[in-house]
Amino acid sequence: MIHCEGLVKIFKTDDIEVVALQGLNLTVGQGEMMVIIGNSGSGKSTLLNILGGLDRPSAGQAVVGQWNLLKMSSEQLIEYKRRTVGFIWQNNGRNLVPYLTVLQNVELPMLIQGKADRAYAKELLAAVGLEHRIGSRLTQLSGGEQQRVAIAISLSNRPPLVLADEPTGSVDSATGEQILAIFRRLNRDLGVTIVIVTHDLSVADKVDRVVAIRDGLTSTEWVKRDADSPGSNGEAASDAAPGSDPRFGGKHKEYVVLDRVGRLQIPPDYLEAMQVSGKAVLEFDGKRVTIGPPEDSPPSGRPDRS
Ligand code: ADP
Ligand code: MG
Repeated sequence: MIHCEGLVKIFKTDDIEVVALQGLNLTVGQGEMMVIIGNSGSGKSTLLNILGGLDRPSAGQAVVGQWNLLKMSSEQLIEYKRRTVGFIWQNNGRNLVPYLTVLQNVELPMLIQGKADRAYAKELLAAVGLEHRIGSRLTQLSGGEQQRVAIAISLSNRPPLVLADEPTGSVDSATGEQILAIFRRLNRDLGVTIVIVTHDLSVADKVDRVVAIRDGLTSTEWVKRDADSPGSNGEAASDAAPGSDPRFGGKHKEYVVLDRVGRLQIPPDYLEAMQVSGKAVLEFDGKRVTIGPPEDSPPSGRPDRS
C-alpha cells in the first residue's frame, strides 16, 4: 500500500531550511494496521501530510497504491485525496463541521463527490458506536464522540487507506482505548489499511507493528505476534534470546548511517543493554559485523554464552 524510500522533506522559510524528513524508508502492506511512534518534532505529521497528499515531498520516493506522490499533477492529487486516503487529525475541528448533524457530517464528503449514500453513512456510524447520535449536532458530543465521527467521516468515500495523526492525543486514556478498538475493528472488517502516528507509547502496545521515527528517519521496528492476547505489551516477540534485554524483544533492527570515514553511531540504549563502553569487539563473518562487549569485560549479570 505504501512504499517510501529515501523520502526527503525540506521546509524553506526566509533564510533557514528545516530538513523534516531526511531519507526516510517505510513500507506498509495492504490491510495492515501499524503505528509510527516518535517524539514531538520527529517528522510524524510531515510524513503523514505527504502520504495524505496535503504536502509535497522534496525528494526520494513515495508510492501509495498506484500513485507516485512525487509525480502527481494537481488534478491527480485532488482525486487522490478524495478517493484513496481518509485523514484524521488530533484536533478534530479540522475534520468536522460544527453546525451540521452527525449524519450530515458523514454524508458531506460523499456529497462533494456526487451523491450521499445514507445507508453507508449510517453503517459507518454504527461501526463507531454512534448510531443513537446521528441526529445530534456536533457541539452536543463529547471529544471522544467527535473523534469517532471523524473516523466515520474519514471512511465515507471508502478509501483503502486511513491516516490518523495523534488520534488519541486529546482524549483521556479510556476513550483512547475505545478509539483504537474501533480502528482495529474497521481494519479487520473493512480491510482498510491504517497508519497511526503518535508520541504515546501506550498506543504502540495495541497494534502488531510499530516503527519508530527519529529526526525524520525511521529507525527501530518491532513486530508483535498477537496484539490482542491479554498481557501482551509490545515486548512479546517469543524468539527473544534468554537473558537478552527484554526491552528489545526478539526482533530489533535499527538503521544507522555510516559516515564517509566508516563511523557509525550506536544508539545509547543498545550500548547500555550490551554494557559496552569505551571498548567493544567487532566480529566479521565476511557478510555481517557483530558488535559486542570485549570478552574480558566484567560479568554483566547475564549468562555468558561464548
Ligand atoms: P511531529 O509531528 O513529529 O511533531 P513535524 O512533522 O510536525 O513533527 O515536524 C518535524 C520538523 O519539521 C520540526 O522541526 C518542525 O519544526 C518542522 N516543520 C514542520 N512543518 C514545518 C513548516 N511548515 N515549516 C517549517 N518547518 C516545519
Ligand atoms: Mg505532529
